[in-house]
Amino acid sequence: MLIVMRPDATAQDIERVNDEIRRRGWQPHAIAGGSRTAIGITGNPGAVEPEPFRVLPGVADAVSISQPFKLVSREVKPEDSLVRVGNLTLGGAAIHVIAGPCSVESREQIISTAQAVKAAGATMLRGGAFKPRTSPYEFQGLKGDGLALLAEARKETGLLVTTEVKDTATLAAVAEHTDILQVGARNMQNFSLLEAVGETRKPVLLKRGISATIKELLMAAEYIVARGNTQVILCERGIRTFENMTRNTLDLNAVPMLKALTHLPVFVDPSHGIGVRKAVPAMMRAAVAAGADGLIVEVHPDPPRAKSDGFQSLDFSEFEKAMGEVRAIAQAMGREMVRLG
Ligand code: PEP
Ligand code: MN
Repeated sequence: MLIVMRPDATAQDIERVNDEIRRRGWQPHAIAGGSRTAIGITGNPGAVEPEPFRVLPGVADAVSISQPFKLVSREVKPEDSLVRVGNLTLGGAAIHVIAGPCSVESREQIISTAQAVKAAGATMLRGGAFKPRTSPYEFQGLKGDGLALLAEARKETGLLVTTEVKDTATLAAVAEHTDILQVGARNMQNFSLLEAVGETRKPVLLKRGISATIKELLMAAEYIVARGNTQVILCERGIRTFENMTRNTLDLNAVPMLKALTHLPVFVDPSHGIGVRKAVPAMMRAAVAAGADGLIVEVHPDPPRAKSDGFQSLDFSEFEKAMGEVRAIAQAMGREMVRLG
């Protein structure tokens, strides 16, 4: 249920509606929007009777939400949500590119990559420190040392950083060092982790699970937003299909579907999406053409020697060239590709 307030509703009218919701044991959620003030209701076990809300002063309407995801739905908030990361604004007309290695490996590696991706037009740096690997015998990341190196790269270049939060045990340490908390595909339905990142006020990049439907991705986002953290970016990163010539099947269908279903920004990860280095630039271009609000791309100084995902990482010159092509697509789409400085 969504309570839509009249434009002339007072703060007292809004508080009265909130009190009525709480009195029933449910939770009110203020939906910030340019064109109207609205209050979402969660925690109701069944359908909400609209009439008792419709008669309250300042209420324009009480409408039921048809989708199972409520707070992230476009029905609740027609305008695009903007996510603020430091001094950057993600979503709306802007396109941002996050780039960097799959894993932080050394000071030299992360700083040289940060400088190169910044020069090529990325606005944020990625790099895994706590890595969720398929095999326990593969490189697990530099962990705390990796976080410290990301902080150094951030200081050196001014690039904001995103890194994966693998579990609730490391959340506090990761949150202290990162500007965006990345929830990985393997954790998309780790509900304790979703609830915990929902309690923080850090922006979250939520990646689609390997076999998750679009609806399941939106329900996962709902877990975070229902805890009060509205700063969520969704990320299509490829799904598992019968096709095995590529690592995953980048589901670009998800981009226009998500843009219609939710107000949250939608990013695409073409690196994990296709998993074939030479093919990544084509999927960067296609993602922007499909309406993505940003990209997260793996870039490494020496991909064949990378400790993880080298086969899908671009080197510096491949990334620079791909960024030029993406800029042309962004312009054709009437989007603004943000650059720093
Ligand atoms: C990654 O970004 O390196 C990563 C592990 O991604 P995903 O969770 O999408 O597999
Ligand atoms: Mn990776």
